[in-house]
Amino acid sequence: MTQSFYPPQRTLMGPGPSDVSPRVLAALARPTIGHLDPEFIKLMDEIKGLLQYAYKTRNELTLPVSAPGSAGMEAVFTNLLEPGDRVVVCQNGVFGGRMKENVERCGATAILVQDDWGKPVDQEKLEEALKANPDAIAVAFVHAETSTGVRSDAKALCALAHQYDCLAIVDAVTSLAGNELRVDDWGIDAIYSGTQKCLSCVPGLSPVSFSERAVERIRRRSHRVQSWFLDMNLIMDYWGGDSKRSYHHTAPVNALYALHESLIMLQEEGLESAWARHEHHHTAFAAGIQAMGMGLIVDKNARLPQLNAVEVPAGVDEAAVRKQLLQAWNLEIGAGLGSLAGKVWRVGLMGHAANQTNVLLCLTALGTVLRSMGASVMPEAGLKAAQAVYAT
Ligand SMILES: *Cc1c(COP(=O)(O)O)cnc(C)c1O
Repeated sequence: MTQSFYPPQRTLMGPGPSDVSPRVLAALARPTIGHLDPEFIKLMDEIKGLLQYAYKTRNELTLPVSAPGSAGMEAVFTNLLEPGDRVVVCQNGVFGGRMKENVERCGATAILVQDDWGKPVDQEKLEEALKANPDAIAVAFVHAETSTGVRSDAKALCALAHQYDCLAIVDAVTSLAGNELRVDDWGIDAIYSGTQKCLSCVPGLSPVSFSERAVERIRRRSHRVQSWFLDMNLIMDYWGGDSKRSYHHTAPVNALYALHESLIMLQEEGLESAWARHEHHHTAFAAGIQAMGMGLIVDKNARLPQLNAVEVPAGVDEAAVRKQLLQAWNLEIGAGLGSLAGKVWRVGLMGHAANQTNVLLCLTALGTVLRSMGASVMPEAGLKAAQAVYAT
């Protein structure tokens, strides 16, 4: 007979999912109730309010799509775009490429603005593209490129989009709750995220939010949204503000208990404190990596605190290191993607996982494994440098 599944106890320091706190896991195990139960509807309202807090928005249309971050991405594009639309897509890593895919599958045209992997989106290039394409209706970019560890200047990119009368579409899957993000102040028109990165919730939900301007556009579409499941015109009635909620799909009830709990934890800590915590542990980690004798591929001013792309030392088999970390240390870190495959490790310090214990564990484990493989690294110096950051 097949046995019950008991996962090993890992420390998750990859690009997601991140460690889920016991409090969130406990919430997940509470009794399932009906998704139209008045008590559940109260919970949905609270989740909406908590997501507005996390996104710093008053957007009425703010809710978790019942599927992972990729579905939030798809929801944003399928709802906002119609066949024939032209959209400027900024690409500086894997996820910008997925935005392009989404635009094209909507029957729209993607005008690509490309930057090197490991560099933020270039504002001048974006402005050139906007000047050359006055008919573009939107600008789409990834705030926190998880494939490279780069943060782009979302505030400036949104301002440019508006200057050229475009909607601003933002991927915040990795940025939400990890670094500064202000939906209303920055004028973001459509945004999506995921629960399994800096919210430290279980994977499988995608918080989205649409500005009034975006909602107008969705209401006035001339073609129906090609995805029935993701059509916000229908979902608005399910997540809407009043009591006439109509059945659309069965909400993932227990997963929403978990999201509620993780958002309460965020509120207890305070959003700005969570941003500062990520920055603090990143500073210690980066100091440790560099003192150990390794580099980070992203320039200091564009580094994401929650995703650190660490250069693999010359001659080291990066996959063997990850295997050893998982087997001997129960520690997961991520591999490089695309053009960075084999060249970097991606070390996540996301949500609940962004803490001193994890930073010191990762530096110790990485240093020990690398030294055992004969790499010339200085694990003691690395630990000392990280500890010095914590001592200040
Ligand atoms: C993880 C991630 C996604 C996809 O989210 P899933 O939950 O894996 O579908 C999209 N964009 C970025 C920037 C991500 O890091």
